[in-house]
Amino acid sequence: MTTSPTPLTLPAARKAVRWFQKAMRMRDWEIHLEIQDDPPEWTDEDRNSRTAGMCSRQRRYKIAWLWVSNRACRNEGGDRSVDPLVALFHELVHVASSEGCWAQDHEEVGEFVVERLARLITTAYRAAQKYPKAFGNG
Ligand SMILES: [Zn+2]
Repeated sequence: MTTSPTPLTLPAARKAVRWFQKAMRMRDWEIHLEIQDDPPEWTDEDRNSRTAGMCSRQRRYKIAWLWVSNRACRNEGGDRSVDPLVALFHELVHVASSEGCWAQDHEEVGEFVVERLARLITTAYRAAQKYPKAFGNG
């Protein structure tokens, strides 16, 4: 992406999460969102982290914590920016994935697949927002 990505707001993130939960039959999950530049304490990241997003989940209790950093997504001075909405769906794919996929979390192939899925889901979400009658707007 060459242009600066649109920053993600908390209300926009909540809307996307609601849509995802409905589409993926995950409405019984409790998903906590943190859309802020500085990493939350549970991430163990340092303040200057360049990580676009992270998640933590308790599968048994169906609770997840998601963090997306607009600052890290802009990646100023870096070679590529990240769409924060893709970063959000990326973390949601981790939350929705099986334990096997979760175990591959930091493996290159697993991450590549999660990222591809996140981009496809972002495209589907944007289409659903644009054409609610055709896709349902959750
Ligand atoms: Zn990931």
